[in-house]
Amino acid sequence: MRHLTRKVLLLLAWALLCVLSGGLLLSAQRQSERDITRVFEDRTDVAARLTETYTRDLLDQERRVAGRELSSPSVSAQDFESVTNLFGYEAAVLLDARGRVLRVAPAKAPLIGQDLTKKYAHLRTAATGRTAVSTVVPSAAKGIPIVAFATPFESGQGRRVFSGAFDVRTTPIGAYLRKVTPLEGARVYLYDSAGTIVASSRNDLLGLKTLAQADPELARAVTRATAGQTGGGYQYSTRPVAGAPWRLVIAVPSAQLFEPINGSRRYLPWLLWAAAVLGGLACSLLVGNLLSSRIKLRDANQSLDQLARIDALTGLYNRRQAQDSLDEASANAHRHEQPLSVLMIDVDHFKQINDNYGHDTGDEALRLIADIVRTTLRAGDVLGRWGGEEFLAILPSTGRSGATRVAERVREAISSTPVVVGDQLISLSVSIGVAAHSGEPNDALVAAADTAMYAAKACGRDRVQTE
Ligand code: GH3
Ligand code: MG
Ligand code: MG
Repeated sequence: MRHLTRKVLLLLAWALLCVLSGGLLLSAQRQSERDITRVFEDRTDVAARLTETYTRDLLDQERRVAGRELSSPSVSAQDFESVTNLFGYEAAVLLDARGRVLRVAPAKAPLIGQDLTKKYAHLRTAATGRTAVSTVVPSAAKGIPIVAFATPFESGQGRRVFSGAFDVRTTPIGAYLRKVTPLEGARVYLYDSAGTIVASSRNDLLGLKTLAQADPELARAVTRATAGQTGGGYQYSTRPVAGAPWRLVIAVPSAQLFEPINGSRRYLPWLLWAAAVLGGLACSLLVGNLLSSRIKLRDANQSLDQLARIDALTGLYNRRQAQDSLDEASANAHRHEQPLSVLMIDVDHFKQINDNYGHDTGDEALRLIADIVRTTLRAGDVLGRWGGEEFLAILPSTGRSGATRVAERVREAISSTPVVVGDQLISLSVSIGVAAHSGEPNDALVAAADTAMYAAKACGRDRVQTE
């Protein structure tokens, strides 16, 4: 039972260690995954901020150049065109202090003098004195899809507005977005509040104007959460671009993003872990078995030792154990200054019993005598089989007279208990020698009891003789 518990405990400890180390490994792998995701998020942050900086710088530049070049009472078409070209804009307008068109590029005479602030929100905002970036809108002159950067500036003629715009298909932002991430298969979009694409890292969109058209799964995902996984195996992250009605989204194939921790890098540690688990299991089973066989051996030795001290026929202590018990009893008697006596009990004419009824009956008679003597003695007394038909009784705390009374009781019990063999009654008797301990060695004590017993034999048997 005990070795079973040890085995179970050993296995439990090992299982606990395995679960702990497995948990650590799992959490380390999760942490790596989180680290990669965080770096990806940071990259999105940086890209959104750079876009912000780009638009802010552009607007600043517009204000400076317009203040310098477009402040005169009448701006020539040529001057306006050269400012427009300076920025690389596809389209541009210059509004006067009342929001009317002073100049437009490409030049379109019917637009001059018109109030465009009604049609364009970004121009309306700029007319109130704040810079504004547009959503994707059709240009005033040609109706091509553009994003515009509108700046108010002060001129001698009051506050004017200069607004330059890129064709969304050829914005310089698109070129930047292509370089935002080195990961193959990455998709980066800048889209406005209506979901229309302002710029993208892809040049295969071919007239697909909205995120929903260009990347339906991503479009659905970004409406649900600002970051996560799309159904199509892409990891994505979005950020608003401050100062513009735009959002930036970067989507990369999850397999690419997590490549550094996938494949063999992911399963190899588990393989090693599994090997350690199995190895440890085998070891703990081995150690457990070793322990249990050692314990079994010890138990077996203990019971062997006990068996070696018991007489097989009568179940009494054998001579070796009787001798040890006598040593212990005499040491105790000496330590506690208590009396101690012994009885040497020998069956009378036992040879005749064997001769007359057979050896088996003799054995049966010996067992009976052993039982009678044992039950006649007190609980603290010790009884051993000293020889073939001789028994030694050790009586602690008992002096000579007490021991003689006990011996008499034993003798009486045996001579009054006939043994029944078949239909015959056999009468048994014993001769008993009594010796009391008085400081002599144990051998001498036993020898004294033996001498007294022989004296009892000599006096006619079935009697007690005290030394
Ligand atoms: P005495 O009254 O002088 O003691 O006579 P006795 O016959 O008892 O003494 P003796 O020493 O001559 O014989 C002892 C007998 O006890 C001899 C032996 O065969 C028998 N004996 C000893 N051990 C055993 C045993 O284990 N079983 C049986 N059946 N007999 C035994
Ligand atoms: Mg004898
Ligand atoms: Mg005898």
